[in-house]
Amino acid sequence: MTGDTLRLGLDVRGLAVIVVGGTGEALRRVGALRAAGAIVTVVAPHVVAAIEDLAQRGQLDWLPRDYIASDLDDAWLVLACTGQPRVDAVVAADAHQHRVFCLSAEQTRARPPGRYGRVMLVGGGPGDPGLMTVKGMQALAESDVVVVDRLAPLAVLGGLREGVEIVDVSKVPRGRFTPQEHINDILIDRARQGSTVVRLKGGDPYVFGRGMEEVQACTAAGVSVDVIPGVTSAISVPGLAGISVTHRGVSQGFTVVSGHVPPGDPRSTLDWGALARSGTTLVVLMGVETLPAIVAALLDEGRDDGTPLACVMDGGLPSQQVATSTLGEVAASGAPHGLQPPAVVVIGDVVDLALSPSGE
Ligand code: SAH
Repeated sequence: MTGDTLRLGLDVRGLAVIVVGGTGEALRRVGALRAAGAIVTVVAPHVVAAIEDLAQRGQLDWLPRDYIASDLDDAWLVLACTGQPRVDAVVAADAHQHRVFCLSAEQTRARPPGRYGRVMLVGGGPGDPGLMTVKGMQALAESDVVVVDRLAPLAVLGGLREGVEIVDVSKVPRGRFTPQEHINDILIDRARQGSTVVRLKGGDPYVFGRGMEEVQACTAAGVSVDVIPGVTSAISVPGLAGISVTHRGVSQGFTVVSGHVPPGDPRSTLDWGALARSGTTLVVLMGVETLPAIVAALLDEGRDDGTPLACVMDGGLPSQQVATSTLGEVAASGAPHGLQPPAVVVIGDVVDLALSPSGE
Protein backbone atom coordinates (compact mmCIF):
# COMPACT_ATOMS: atom_id res chain seq x y z
CA MET A 1 0.00 0.00 0.00
CA THR A 2 1.46 3.34 -0.99
CA GLY A 3 -0.31 5.78 1.26
CA ASP A 4 -3.55 7.45 2.16
CA THR A 5 -6.80 7.52 0.21
CA LEU A 6 -6.22 10.94 -1.31
CA ARG A 7 -2.90 9.90 -2.81
CA LEU A 8 -4.73 6.99 -4.40
CA GLY A 9 -6.47 9.54 -6.56
CA LEU A 10 -9.87 7.90 -6.10
CA ASP A 11 -12.91 10.10 -6.45
CA VAL A 12 -14.89 9.05 -3.38
CA ARG A 13 -17.32 11.98 -3.37
CA GLY A 14 -20.74 10.81 -2.25
CA LEU A 15 -19.61 7.18 -1.99
CA ALA A 16 -20.01 4.96 1.08
CA VAL A 17 -16.68 4.16 2.72
CA ILE A 18 -16.34 1.91 5.77
CA VAL A 19 -13.57 2.50 8.28
CA VAL A 20 -13.08 -0.50 10.55
CA GLY A 21 -11.35 0.58 13.76
CA GLY A 22 -11.48 3.66 15.98
CA THR A 23 -7.81 4.40 16.69
CA GLY A 24 -5.70 7.44 15.85
CA GLU A 25 -4.89 5.67 12.57
CA ALA A 26 -8.62 5.52 11.83
CA LEU A 27 -8.93 9.23 12.65
CA ARG A 28 -6.22 10.02 10.13
CA ARG A 29 -8.17 8.14 7.43
CA VAL A 30 -11.47 9.71 8.44
CA GLY A 31 -10.01 13.21 8.15
CA ALA A 32 -8.83 12.58 4.58
CA LEU A 33 -12.02 10.80 3.56
CA ARG A 34 -14.30 13.55 4.82
CA ALA A 35 -12.22 16.16 3.04
CA ALA A 36 -12.60 14.10 -0.14
CA GLY A 37 -16.40 14.06 0.25
CA ALA A 38 -16.92 10.38 1.14
CA ILE A 39 -19.88 9.21 3.21
CA VAL A 40 -18.02 7.67 6.11
CA THR A 41 -19.16 4.95 8.50
CA VAL A 42 -16.84 3.94 11.32
CA VAL A 43 -17.31 0.46 12.78
CA ALA A 44 -15.60 -0.06 16.15
CA PRO A 45 -16.72 -0.76 19.72
CA HIS A 46 -14.52 2.12 20.93
CA VAL A 47 -13.32 5.21 19.08
CA VAL A 48 -11.03 8.10 19.88
CA ALA A 49 -12.84 11.18 21.14
CA ALA A 50 -12.55 13.16 17.89
CA ILE A 51 -14.38 10.42 15.98
CA GLU A 52 -17.13 10.26 18.61
CA ASP A 53 -17.45 14.02 18.38
CA LEU A 54 -17.75 13.93 14.57
CA ALA A 55 -20.45 11.27 14.93
CA GLN A 56 -22.36 13.38 17.44
CA ARG A 57 -22.17 16.34 15.08
CA GLY A 58 -23.64 14.23 12.28
CA GLN A 59 -20.47 14.36 10.17
CA LEU A 60 -20.13 10.58 10.00
CA ASP A 61 -21.92 7.43 11.16
CA TRP A 62 -20.43 5.43 13.99
CA LEU A 63 -21.57 1.85 14.62
CA PRO A 64 -20.34 1.15 18.17
CA ARG A 65 -19.80 -2.58 17.83
CA ASP A 66 -17.47 -5.18 16.38
CA TYR A 67 -17.14 -5.44 12.63
CA ILE A 68 -19.27 -8.00 10.72
CA ALA A 69 -18.83 -8.99 7.10
CA SER A 70 -22.20 -7.54 6.05
CA ASP A 71 -20.85 -4.06 6.94
CA LEU A 72 -19.25 -4.20 3.50
CA ASP A 73 -22.53 -4.77 1.65
CA ASP A 74 -22.99 -1.21 0.37
CA ALA A 75 -19.39 -0.07 0.57
CA TRP A 76 -17.21 1.07 -2.30
CA LEU A 77 -14.07 1.06 -0.23
CA VAL A 78 -13.07 -0.26 3.18
CA LEU A 79 -10.18 0.79 5.38
CA ALA A 80 -8.96 -1.72 7.93
CA CYS A 81 -7.26 0.14 10.75
CA THR A 82 -8.14 -1.67 13.96
CA GLY A 83 -4.53 -1.82 15.11
CA GLN A 84 -4.87 -5.63 15.23
CA PRO A 85 -3.23 -7.19 12.17
CA ARG A 86 -5.34 -10.35 12.46
CA VAL A 87 -8.63 -8.44 12.42
CA ASP A 88 -7.39 -6.25 9.59
CA ALA A 89 -6.56 -9.42 7.65
CA VAL A 90 -10.11 -10.75 8.14
CA VAL A 91 -11.55 -7.46 6.87
CA ALA A 92 -9.24 -7.57 3.87
CA ALA A 93 -10.28 -11.15 3.05
CA ASP A 94 -13.99 -10.31 3.35
CA ALA A 95 -13.51 -7.27 1.15
CA HIS A 96 -11.85 -9.40 -1.48
CA GLN A 97 -14.88 -11.70 -1.47
CA HIS A 98 -17.24 -8.74 -1.69
CA ARG A 99 -15.20 -7.24 -4.56
CA VAL A 100 -14.65 -4.12 -2.48
CA PHE A 101 -11.25 -2.44 -2.38
CA CYS A 102 -9.57 -2.63 1.02
CA LEU A 103 -6.69 -0.56 2.38
CA SER A 104 -4.92 -1.86 5.48
CA ALA A 105 -2.92 0.34 7.82
CA GLU A 106 0.74 -0.40 8.19
CA GLN A 107 2.22 -0.89 11.64
CA THR A 108 3.89 2.13 13.17
CA ARG A 109 7.53 1.96 12.25
CA ALA A 110 10.23 1.92 14.91
CA ARG A 111 12.25 5.10 15.14
CA PRO A 112 16.00 5.16 14.87
CA PRO A 113 17.42 5.18 18.41
CA GLY A 114 19.53 7.91 19.93
CA ARG A 115 17.86 10.94 18.35
CA TYR A 116 16.95 14.01 20.36
CA GLY A 117 13.25 14.68 20.31
CA ARG A 118 11.46 17.98 20.40
CA VAL A 119 8.00 19.49 20.44
CA MET A 120 6.49 21.92 17.95
CA LEU A 121 3.24 23.61 18.95
CA VAL A 122 1.44 24.28 15.69
CA GLY A 123 -1.62 26.48 15.22
CA GLY A 124 -3.76 24.72 12.64
CA GLY A 125 -6.26 27.47 11.81
CA PRO A 126 -10.02 27.10 12.02
CA GLY A 127 -10.49 23.73 10.28
CA ASP A 128 -9.89 24.17 6.55
CA PRO A 129 -6.48 22.57 5.82
CA GLY A 130 -5.86 25.36 3.31
CA LEU A 131 -5.69 27.75 6.23
CA MET A 132 -2.69 26.01 7.81
CA THR A 133 0.55 27.96 7.54
CA VAL A 134 3.35 26.71 5.28
CA LYS A 135 5.58 26.43 8.35
CA GLY A 136 2.93 24.38 10.14
CA MET A 137 2.74 21.99 7.18
CA GLN A 138 6.54 21.67 7.17
CA ALA A 139 6.44 20.76 10.86
CA LEU A 140 3.87 18.06 10.12
CA ALA A 141 6.05 16.68 7.34
CA GLU A 142 8.91 16.27 9.84
CA SER A 143 6.81 14.76 12.61
CA ASP A 144 6.96 11.26 14.11
CA VAL A 145 4.02 11.88 16.44
CA VAL A 146 1.05 14.23 16.05
CA VAL A 147 -0.94 15.06 19.17
CA VAL A 148 -4.20 16.49 17.92
CA ASP A 149 -7.31 18.36 19.09
CA ARG A 150 -10.79 17.91 17.65
CA LEU A 151 -10.95 21.49 16.34
CA ALA A 152 -7.63 21.18 14.48
CA PRO A 153 -7.81 20.69 10.68
CA LEU A 154 -8.25 16.91 10.81
CA ALA A 155 -8.09 16.62 7.02
CA VAL A 156 -4.31 17.20 7.10
CA LEU A 157 -3.83 13.95 9.02
CA GLY A 158 -4.57 12.03 5.83
CA GLY A 159 -1.48 13.50 4.20
CA LEU A 160 0.96 12.36 6.88
CA ARG A 161 3.51 9.78 5.87
CA GLU A 162 2.97 6.16 6.89
CA GLY A 163 4.05 5.32 10.41
CA VAL A 164 3.35 8.70 12.00
CA GLU A 165 1.62 8.07 15.31
CA ILE A 166 -1.55 10.07 15.88
CA VAL A 167 -2.64 10.72 19.45
CA ASP A 168 -6.13 12.19 19.89
CA VAL A 169 -6.42 14.36 22.99
CA SER A 170 -9.70 16.10 22.14
CA LYS A 171 -11.69 17.83 24.82
CA VAL A 172 -15.34 17.52 23.88
CA PRO A 173 -17.62 20.03 25.64
CA ARG A 174 -19.46 18.07 28.35
CA GLY A 175 -18.00 14.88 26.83
CA ARG A 176 -14.72 13.03 26.81
CA PHE A 177 -11.56 14.91 27.54
CA THR A 178 -7.90 14.33 28.20
CA PRO A 179 -6.68 16.25 31.26
CA GLN A 180 -4.11 18.93 30.43
CA GLU A 181 -1.44 17.30 32.64
CA HIS A 182 -1.85 14.09 30.67
CA ILE A 183 -1.39 15.97 27.38
CA ASN A 184 1.76 17.61 28.75
CA ASP A 185 3.08 14.18 29.80
CA ILE A 186 2.47 12.71 26.33
CA LEU A 187 4.40 15.56 24.68
CA ILE A 188 7.31 15.23 27.09
CA ASP A 189 7.45 11.41 27.03
CA ARG A 190 7.40 11.12 23.25
CA ALA A 191 10.04 13.85 22.85
CA ARG A 192 12.24 12.11 25.41
CA GLN A 193 11.94 8.93 23.37
CA GLY A 194 13.54 10.85 20.50
CA SER A 195 10.42 11.74 18.52
CA THR A 196 9.67 14.96 16.74
CA VAL A 197 6.30 15.77 18.21
CA VAL A 198 3.80 18.14 16.61
CA ARG A 199 1.13 19.41 18.94
CA LEU A 200 -1.54 20.38 16.41
CA LYS A 201 -4.15 22.74 17.81
CA GLY A 202 -7.13 24.56 16.37
CA GLY A 203 -6.67 28.24 15.53
CA ASP A 204 -3.71 29.85 17.24
CA PRO A 205 -2.07 28.06 20.18
CA TYR A 206 -2.04 31.19 22.32
CA VAL A 207 -5.72 32.17 21.89
CA PHE A 208 -7.67 30.21 24.51
CA GLY A 209 -5.57 27.23 23.53
CA ARG A 210 -3.58 26.53 26.71
CA GLY A 211 -0.49 26.71 24.51
CA MET A 212 1.56 28.52 27.12
CA GLU A 213 0.86 25.78 29.67
CA GLU A 214 2.30 23.22 27.26
CA VAL A 215 5.33 25.43 26.55
CA GLN A 216 5.91 25.83 30.29
CA ALA A 217 5.59 22.10 30.94
CA CYS A 218 8.04 21.19 28.14
CA THR A 219 10.52 23.86 29.19
CA ALA A 220 10.37 22.74 32.83
CA ALA A 221 11.06 19.18 31.67
CA GLY A 222 14.05 20.32 29.61
CA VAL A 223 12.33 19.48 26.30
CA SER A 224 12.96 21.86 23.40
CA VAL A 225 9.74 23.50 22.20
CA ASP A 226 8.93 25.86 19.30
CA VAL A 227 5.66 27.63 18.64
CA ILE A 228 4.28 28.13 15.14
CA PRO A 229 1.39 30.60 15.26
CA GLY A 230 -1.86 29.83 13.49
CA VAL A 231 -4.83 31.62 11.98
CA THR A 232 -7.17 32.22 14.90
CA SER A 233 -10.85 31.43 14.52
CA ALA A 234 -11.63 34.70 16.32
CA ILE A 235 -10.95 36.67 13.14
CA SER A 236 -10.93 34.06 10.38
CA VAL A 237 -14.26 32.40 11.14
CA PRO A 238 -16.18 35.70 10.95
CA GLY A 239 -14.15 36.48 7.81
CA LEU A 240 -15.16 33.19 6.19
CA ALA A 241 -18.77 34.22 6.74
CA GLY A 242 -18.15 37.58 5.09
CA ILE A 243 -17.91 39.52 8.36
CA SER A 244 -15.11 42.04 8.71
CA VAL A 245 -14.49 42.59 12.42
CA THR A 246 -13.49 46.19 11.74
CA HIS A 247 -14.79 48.54 9.07
CA ARG A 248 -13.91 52.18 8.61
CA GLY A 249 -16.74 54.31 9.92
CA VAL A 250 -18.45 51.38 11.67
CA SER A 251 -16.03 49.82 14.14
CA GLN A 252 -12.57 50.99 15.19
CA GLY A 253 -11.67 47.81 16.98
CA PHE A 254 -12.68 44.41 18.16
CA THR A 255 -12.51 42.63 21.47
CA VAL A 256 -12.13 38.87 21.72
CA VAL A 257 -13.44 37.25 24.88
CA SER A 258 -14.14 33.77 26.14
CA GLY A 259 -17.74 33.05 27.06
CA HIS A 260 -17.00 29.79 28.84
CA VAL A 261 -18.14 31.26 32.14
CA PRO A 262 -21.20 33.57 32.05
CA PRO A 263 -21.31 37.17 33.30
CA GLY A 264 -21.86 37.24 37.06
CA ASP A 265 -20.15 33.90 37.60
CA PRO A 266 -17.57 34.24 40.38
CA ARG A 267 -14.94 32.81 38.00
CA SER A 268 -15.55 35.57 35.43
CA THR A 269 -12.95 38.35 35.37
CA LEU A 270 -14.47 40.30 32.47
CA ASP A 271 -16.00 43.76 32.90
CA TRP A 272 -19.18 43.35 30.84
CA GLY A 273 -20.17 46.98 31.43
CA ALA A 274 -16.92 48.12 29.83
CA LEU A 275 -17.43 45.66 26.98
CA ALA A 276 -20.98 46.88 26.39
CA ARG A 277 -19.77 50.50 26.18
CA SER A 278 -16.50 49.86 24.35
CA GLY A 279 -17.90 50.68 20.92
CA THR A 280 -15.87 47.79 19.50
CA THR A 281 -17.07 44.66 17.77
CA LEU A 282 -17.36 41.90 20.35
CA VAL A 283 -16.13 38.43 19.34
CA VAL A 284 -17.09 35.64 21.73
CA LEU A 285 -15.45 32.22 21.65
CA MET A 286 -16.82 29.27 23.63
CA GLY A 287 -20.02 31.25 24.13
CA VAL A 288 -22.78 29.03 22.73
CA GLU A 289 -24.17 27.90 26.08
CA THR A 290 -23.75 31.25 27.77
CA LEU A 291 -25.08 33.40 24.90
CA PRO A 292 -28.40 34.32 26.56
CA ALA A 293 -26.59 35.39 29.76
CA ILE A 294 -24.04 37.40 27.75
CA VAL A 295 -26.77 39.16 25.79
CA ALA A 296 -28.69 39.94 28.99
CA ALA A 297 -25.55 41.46 30.53
CA LEU A 298 -24.81 43.60 27.46
CA LEU A 299 -28.41 44.91 27.38
CA ASP A 300 -28.35 45.60 31.14
CA GLU A 301 -25.21 47.61 30.61
CA GLY A 302 -26.83 49.72 27.91
CA ARG A 303 -25.92 48.13 24.57
CA ASP A 304 -28.63 48.84 21.99
CA ASP A 305 -31.15 46.03 21.58
CA GLY A 306 -31.08 46.45 17.80
CA THR A 307 -27.37 45.49 17.73
CA PRO A 308 -26.98 42.63 15.25
CA LEU A 309 -25.18 39.42 16.05
CA ALA A 310 -24.01 36.47 13.99
CA CYS A 311 -23.10 32.97 15.12
CA VAL A 312 -20.74 31.27 12.67
CA MET A 313 -20.67 27.50 13.25
CA ASP A 314 -18.10 25.01 11.89
CA GLY A 315 -16.23 27.87 10.22
CA GLY A 316 -13.96 26.71 7.41
CA LEU A 317 -15.54 23.26 7.23
CA PRO A 318 -17.95 22.02 4.57
CA SER A 319 -20.65 22.14 7.26
CA GLN A 320 -20.19 25.88 7.94
CA GLN A 321 -23.42 27.66 8.89
CA VAL A 322 -24.35 31.15 9.97
CA ALA A 323 -27.28 32.17 12.18
CA THR A 324 -28.06 35.85 12.67
CA SER A 325 -30.17 37.69 15.20
CA THR A 326 -30.14 40.83 17.33
CA LEU A 327 -29.53 41.35 21.03
CA GLY A 328 -33.24 42.15 21.47
CA GLU A 329 -34.37 39.01 19.65
CA VAL A 330 -32.08 36.78 21.69
CA ALA A 331 -33.34 38.40 24.89
CA ALA A 332 -36.95 37.82 23.80
CA SER A 333 -36.75 34.38 22.15
CA GLY A 334 -33.40 32.86 23.08
CA ALA A 335 -30.37 31.92 21.02
CA PRO A 336 -30.84 31.44 17.25
CA HIS A 337 -32.42 28.12 16.31
CA GLY A 338 -29.92 25.34 15.61
CA LEU A 339 -27.01 27.09 17.31
CA GLN A 340 -24.39 24.54 18.30
CA PRO A 341 -20.67 24.55 19.02
CA PRO A 342 -18.12 25.19 17.77
CA ALA A 343 -19.25 28.70 16.96
CA VAL A 344 -17.81 32.19 16.95
CA VAL A 345 -20.33 34.83 17.97
CA VAL A 346 -19.85 38.32 16.53
CA ILE A 347 -21.80 41.18 18.10
CA GLY A 348 -21.80 44.60 16.45
CA ASP A 349 -22.91 46.69 13.49
CA VAL A 350 -20.27 45.11 11.21
CA VAL A 351 -22.57 42.08 11.03
CA ASP A 352 -25.07 44.11 8.98
CA LEU A 353 -22.41 44.81 6.34
CA ALA A 354 -21.99 41.09 5.73
CA LEU A 355 -25.73 40.71 5.26
CA SER A 356 -25.80 43.67 2.91
CA PRO A 357 -22.24 44.45 1.72
CA SER A 358 -23.31 47.47 -0.36
CA GLY A 359 -24.35 49.06 2.92
CA GLU A 360 -27.99 49.46 1.88
N1 SAH B 1 -7.14 28.50 19.76
C1 SAH B 1 -8.40 28.58 19.06
C2 SAH B 1 -9.57 28.78 19.99
C3 SAH B 1 -9.76 27.66 21.00
S1 SAH B 1 -11.18 27.86 21.98
C4 SAH B 1 -8.33 29.67 18.01
O1 SAH B 1 -7.41 30.51 18.01
O2 SAH B 1 -9.21 29.70 17.14
C5 SAH B 1 -12.38 26.96 21.07
C6 SAH B 1 -13.41 27.89 20.48
O3 SAH B 1 -12.93 28.45 19.27
C7 SAH B 1 -14.71 27.24 20.10
O4 SAH B 1 -15.56 27.08 21.23
C8 SAH B 1 -15.27 28.23 19.12
O5 SAH B 1 -15.79 29.37 19.78
C9 SAH B 1 -14.01 28.67 18.40
N2 SAH B 1 -13.77 27.89 17.17
C10 SAH B 1 -12.66 27.20 16.87
N3 SAH B 1 -12.75 26.66 15.64
C11 SAH B 1 -13.94 27.03 15.15
C12 SAH B 1 -14.63 26.81 13.91
N4 SAH B 1 -14.08 26.11 12.93
N5 SAH B 1 -15.85 27.35 13.75
C13 SAH B 1 -16.41 28.09 14.72
N6 SAH B 1 -15.82 28.32 15.90
C14 SAH B 1 -14.60 27.82 16.11
